[in-house]
Amino acid sequence: MSLPTAHPTSLRVHQYLGLQPGPRLIVLGAVHGNETCGTTALHAVIEAFDQGRLTLRRGQLTLVPVTNALAHARHAREGERNLNRKLVPPAIPQDFEDRVARVLCPLLRAHEVLLDLHSFHTAGEPFVMVGPRDNDGLLEPFAHEQAEAALAASLGPRLIVEGWLETYARGVERRRAHPVTAAQAMPDPQFGVGTTEYMRACGGYGVTLECGQHDDPQAPAVAHQAVMRTLRLLGMVDAEVAEPAPQVPAAPDTAHTVMCLFDVVDCEHAGDRFTREWASFDPVQAGEVIGHRDDGRAVLAQTDGWIVFPNPRAQVGQEWFYLAQASARAL
Ligand SMILES: [Zn+2]
Repeated sequence: MSLPTAHPTSLRVHQYLGLQPGPRLIVLGAVHGNETCGTTALHAVIEAFDQGRLTLRRGQLTLVPVTNALAHARHAREGERNLNRKLVPPAIPQDFEDRVARVLCPLLRAHEVLLDLHSFHTAGEPFVMVGPRDNDGLLEPFAHEQAEAALAASLGPRLIVEGWLETYARGVERRRAHPVTAAQAMPDPQFGVGTTEYMRACGGYGVTLECGQHDDPQAPAVAHQAVMRTLRLLGMVDAEVAEPAPQVPAAPDTAHTVMCLFDVVDCEHAGDRFTREWASFDPVQAGEVIGHRDDGRAVLAQTDGWIVFPNPRAQVGQEWFYLAQASARAL
């Protein structure tokens, strides 16, 4: 018998093929191995199908409870690299995640809709990451803005974040102009391509649901509720189906807040320091000092908005934090 941390040699997929045509939905858990709320939720959904409490009415449903099996076995975010960056199927795989990409990418391409279930490191409320507006640009052309927004709005969390790939590409351009490390001299905007970006590039749509902090006991319920709401929205299960109905406390204000990421600030020196322990979605005001560079220069917020994904342990050359401002988009 092999050790649990030996490299897994297959991807386990649970698939239900409706006898009536309908949407093709794929739901992923543990793309990051230590983010297990989706794994727990998908196992509960599979059990409900097995026990006849749920029935697929139409379409194709594919559930992948553990997408990065190596990272999951190690209880780590990554196996050999971040599966949710530069997600493309290479002809000659260089690492474990490349080998996963070679089977995961064709699987994504065979679907129309993706729900990708994640959790995050620091405290904060659940949020949904959506793609761009409809556009025919070169970076991320898209034609399913409305369907994707409807999906995002239906999941439960009130916070919606847009602007990921555009902001990531802006950071790539800045690193190319002023590289801090050798690796930054040749940055690649493809590194910003994760599961949802790949899905959109193949003509589909999808959202990333960040269900809460990694160990938040509510996170699996947030994930579970979202899967059920997606199945109902797409008409794949009966609307009145009672199973399963996890209890997720309602947010005090249920109106959606849409934030647009617009800048990413990298860590430039091991001595760069935040002024305080920031949490994602802490509000910042124009001119507010967010941190100090090693040489004492203050790093300021350019505009009113929020700090997003602050990482006090960022390595030199990695993203230190993102900034978001209110979006004009309504869901
Ligand atoms: Zn994640």
